Order: sequence, then structure tokens, then C-alpha cells
Amino acid sequence: MSWQTYLSNNRTRFIQELIDFISIPSISALPQHKDDVRRAAEWLKTRLDTAGMNHAMLINTAGHPAVYADWLHAPDKPTILLYGHYDVQPVDPLDQWVSPPFEPQIRDGKIYGRGASDDKGNIIATVQTLEAILRATGKFDVNVKCIFEGEEEIGSPTLGPAIAQHRDLLACDHIFSMDGLQWGEHAAGILVGLKGMAKLQINVFGPKTDQHSGLFGATIQNPTTALAHILASLRSPEGKVLVNGFYADVRPLTDQDRAHLAAVPFDSIAIQRTVGVTALSGEPGYSPLERMWARPTLDVNGIWGGFQGAGSKTIIPASAHAKITCRLVADQNPEHIADLIETHIHHHTPPGVRVEVEKSSGAHPFLMSPDHPSNILVQDVLSELYGSDPYYVRVGGSVPVYAVFERELGVQPATMGFTLEDEQLHAPNEFWRLESFDRCQMAYGILLHEF
Ligand SMILES: [Zn+2]
Repeated sequence: MSWQTYLSNNRTRFIQELIDFISIPSISALPQHKDDVRRAAEWLKTRLDTAGMNHAMLINTAGHPAVYADWLHAPDKPTILLYGHYDVQPVDPLDQWVSPPFEPQIRDGKIYGRGASDDKGNIIATVQTLEAILRATGKFDVNVKCIFEGEEEIGSPTLGPAIAQHRDLLACDHIFSMDGLQWGEHAAGILVGLKGMAKLQINVFGPKTDQHSGLFGATIQNPTTALAHILASLRSPEGKVLVNGFYADVRPLTDQDRAHLAAVPFDSIAIQRTVGVTALSGEPGYSPLERMWARPTLDVNGIWGGFQGAGSKTIIPASAHAKITCRLVADQNPEHIADLIETHIHHHTPPGVRVEVEKSSGAHPFLMSPDHPSNILVQDVLSELYGSDPYYVRVGGSVPVYAVFERELGVQPATMGFTLEDEQLHAPNEFWRLESFDRCQMAYGILLHEF
């Protein structure tokens, strides 16, 4: 029997397992669900075991456990590590769910429930594929390890230390994350880039209390005006960052990068309409998508100081403040960028005020070559499944696990998940198309066979 036949013969049981898995309310953020998170981990451990995987176990961390299993009977063959997360987001507002979040329902070929698409569906579909291959063919052509974490939805705080502690156990040649999106129902995408982040707060201090602007306005510096001057010096009106050295470590876009970005369908007018602005704006010399996905940003996220009440109040305020974040791209370093901005701020501080810069911990950007061997494998699988070449996509946000794998295991993770953007991730009525369930099983089946 082929593994494909095994999958279709067992589809009813596999769908029931999907329902059972989603029914466990493994909300990592809420302390009252701590035992449920562990129950989901135990469930998954048992399921890996019955799939025919070896050494299924929980890796205990300072927080929620991770689940591990392996199959290492292909000597001299590469080892792949499969990653996903079994924890889910909180469910409120509960009254907006058509069916209860932890009593999954199938309607119109879609399964509704918290975690259906992010990320329990992808995990269980893949584990079932492992079972199908092992039962139908008796072996994999590669060594397979699985690590499923229970803290992705709270930023993976303990995954780094857990991996560092189990470096040998988790050592591998390729990592594939099943926590990812496809471009659309009929178009595939390969994730090659994520942005990092630097965060700062500027505090500008003037007189020790607010002062009368008629008495002192002509002779002391105004902190809010000083802050406005500093902020205006940070970027051009369009959005080019004017901090010395800010772009020095940015890896320039290659012709291939630009061609990949240009191939992605992008509608400026639709975006303009969606967000409600009169025009798109940003660093000159780059297309909107190049800026969104491949160029760093500097944004003032909030600004406060002085009198905010009705009417007017004639004061020189004692202080003024602003919060700044930068979205970074490879190979910018968050600490270095924060230092450069701090230096710039001190250079551009007008006389007569004292400035303090608070820097908080940031995130490293992630960039993976489209030609990375793991991405070539993903590309082969997706092209076969969709009948067309995938787009190479990036995300302007940050996902900590990518940097964790790169740092702790020295392997860049490729992404192959089958969630679609409209599936209400983190929102009421989260669902997953059963078509994606089948597609995910086929994809991981082909991947494991093409090695
Ligand atoms: Zn996820």
C-alpha cells in the first residue's frame, strides 16, 4: 500500500483526531490553562508514539513543555527537524464565536475551532503523514526529528534555553516549520525574510517643574519643542532615515531579490483604500513592497508632554517623551542600531535640555536565501502541489523562533505551513480548510520522499 492510500483509507479517523486535538484548550497565555497545555503536550507525545516515532517525550522548560520524538534509522542520510506549536491564543470575545472554540465543528469543508489553522491542524496532519509513511513503507529515507513547542503564542520565551540544553538531541541538517502561511488557495509562497526590531524611549527634561511661558519662555529651552526638533532630524519627510550609519549593514537587494519582489501581486490603490490614506509614502528609490518587506524603518509610535486639556495653558513644560521603534532587516543589529540612534539624538539635542534614552531589548532580523537547500526542497514540493512556481515572500513582523534556531542550532528554518490569511488566526471563528489539511499531508509526504 502507498502512503497516499494509507492517508485516504484513514481519513475519517484522522479528521476525528484533528477534532480531539483542537478540543484541548491549550492557551499558553492564561495561567488557568496551564494543565490543559500540558495535557495537549501529553496527547501529542502519545500520538507521535503511536505514529511509530521513537523516543517520544516531553522536554520540560521553565514554562510550558516542548514535545520531542525522532526516527533515526537512515544512517549517512541527512536529519530533518520538524517544528510547530501546539499552544493557542486566548478566545475572547467568546460571544462572537458561532460554535464554541474548543468544540470543533465542520461546516462547508472547514473545521472551526481555536488552533485549527494556527497551528494544531498543520501539526496533526504532519504527524499522521509520518504514520502513513512508516506504516505503508516501513521507513523514511531521511532521519526525522520533531520539536513542537507550547509557548509560541507568548513569544517562545523558554524555547532558546530548552534548545541550548538539548543541542545534541536536536542537531539536524534542515529545519522545516509548519507554522506558516500560503499565499492563497491557488498560489504558494516561500517565506524568506522577517524583520527585526530596535526599541527606544526618549525623555527630554527642562525646568524642574512647568514654568510660566510669559516669564521664562524667552530664556529657557522648551522640552516639547526640543523633542520635536530631535524627532524631525531622524528622518526625511518621505521616510529615509537620516541617522548616521543606519543603513551601513543593510544587505542590498540583489537583482534576483528585486525580481522575486516584483513578481508578487501588489495593488497600491487597494492598500491605500484599506488603510485610508491619500497616498503611499516611504524611502525614495524603492517600490512599496520593497520598502515593506526589505527596507528598515524608523517610526515614532507615541509622543507626549505638556498640557493636553481643554483650552490653553501658557507653560514651558518640564518634560517631553517619545517612543520609537525600528523594523530592521539583515544584517542590522538591534543593539548597534539603538546605539547609533542614541548618538544621533545627543548630537541633535538643542541647548538647555537634558536628554535620556532608554533602550529595551530588540529582535534580530531573519533572511534566508531562496536558493538555500531547504528552500529548494520546499519549492519542489509546492510547485508540484500547486502546479505553479511559489512567490518568495517576506514579513514586516518578527518571529523569535527563527533567530532561536539559527543561533542555537546553526540551521536556518524553512517554512512550509498551509494556513491562509483569511482563516481568522488569533480571532473569533478561527478555521482551517479541510482542503489544506489534505494538502499539508501531501506536502510533508512528498518532502519526506524527495530526499
Ligand atoms: Zn502560529
